Amino acid sequence: MSKLKACPFCGENPPDDSHTLTDGGFKYGAVVCGCGAVGPDTRTDYKEWPHWKTAALAEWNRRAIPEGYALVPVDQLKKIHRDLDACQKLIWANMRGCDPAYYEDAQASLAHIEAMLAAAQEVE
Ligand SMILES: [Zn+2]
Repeated sequence: MSKLKACPFCGENPPDDSHTLTDGGFKYGAVVCGCGAVGPDTRTDYKEWPHWKTAALAEWNRRAIPEGYALVPVDQLKKIHRDLDACQKLIWANMRGCDPAYYEDAQASLAHIEAMLAAAQEVE
C-alpha cells in the first residue's frame, strides 16, 4: 500500500518506489506519478534511490489536496458544466422577467468552471 497521498492531477496514489531524477543529472529527484505528474524537487546528495526516498515522499505529500478542496475529474467537471448550462438556458428561456440572479449566478459559475477546464488542459 502506498504511503503517498493522491495525485492532485489524476487522483491515483503513486507507488512508494516511483521516482525520477529531475535535473538531467543526479542532484535532484522527485516522486513521479503514473500520469506523468512530478513532485517537488528533492536534493539527492548525489546518492541513489532510496537514500532520498523519505524526503521525496514527504515533499510529494506536502502538495496533497488542501483541506476544503476536492479533486474532481475533468470529465465530471465537463458534465457539471453541461448540466448547469442546460439549466440556466432553460431558466432564461422560460422565465423571462424573473430575477436575473437566477441565471447570472449560473453564468458566473459556468465561467468559473470554464477557467478550471482551461487550466486543466494546460497541464495535459
Ligand atoms: Zn497522477
